[in-house]
Amino acid sequence: MRVSSNRREREAPPAPEALTPLIDAHTHLDACGARDAADVRVIVDRAAAVGVGAVVTIADDLHSARWAARAAEWDPRVYAAAALHPTRADALTDEARTEIEALAAHPRVVAVGETGMDMYWPGRLEGCAAPAVQREAFAWHIDLAKRCGKPLMIHNRDADAEVLDVLRTEGAPDVVIFHCFSSDSAMARECVDAGWFLSLSGTVSFRNARALRDAVPLIPAEQLLVETDAPFLTPHPYRGAPNEPYCLPYTVRAIAELIDRPAEELAVITTGNACRTYGLAAPTG
Ligand SMILES: [Zn+2]
Ligand SMILES: [Zn+2]
Repeated sequence: MRVSSNRREREAPPAPEALTPLIDAHTHLDACGARDAADVRVIVDRAAAVGVGAVVTIADDLHSARWAARAAEWDPRVYAAAALHPTRADALTDEARTEIEALAAHPRVVAVGETGMDMYWPGRLEGCAAPAVQREAFAWHIDLAKRCGKPLMIHNRDADAEVLDVLRTEGAPDVVIFHCFSSDSAMARECVDAGWFLSLSGTVSFRNARALRDAVPLIPAEQLLVETDAPFLTPHPYRGAPNEPYCLPYTVRAIAELIDRPAEELAVITTGNACRTYGLAAPTG
């Protein structure tokens, strides 16, 4: 959950040169404006045209979780994840737990997330769950990921120590993905050593993200995923414009430049990683 700005007034970035194969490991199709099957198809067609053959759409509240599972039924290129976002952890009632458990068992829901800790919004955003409440909700989602045998997708904003502490206390599930990894080299090392996956978004292309850009070369390609987190975090030089899954090649090329490897090679490796971690069929076309 982020405070939406006037991004709709900004012009959409041009389509990048195609880069195949790619999977957008974390996006929010509903927040990109999709309402029904036709809307989903338009967005995913636009992505497919530049090589992004599949997307994982993430929920941040219960309504969004129900919608994400339906979107994944509408289009074979769409998969979903379900959880309550840490900032919304106050809403994790018994009824909500029952419903998220049912959604997590859905065959096209491929991860439990996004969950984790957000130390940025408490006190800044009205209604944001307090850290103690977030922590309890995070622990519950960790347990759910273990019970349903699906990857845990972590949201970590200004909360490296808190997230690591909860993971260590509760015990991490087999597959852990840090979505929109934006921390420094020390945190990257911790995660890499633990065997976790780090999913990079447009933030790696931001010129002022120095600590993150220094950390990127420390991540073995085998532990790397790529994502848009659309409609947020549009990659440089389109920062502030509306983001969509079709913008993913910009971010992959920015990573390729940082680690001095061909973007085509990164595309193949990260797509293989996404298929393995989420249990997806390889995208076609
Ligand atoms: Zn997030
Ligand atoms: Zn997100």
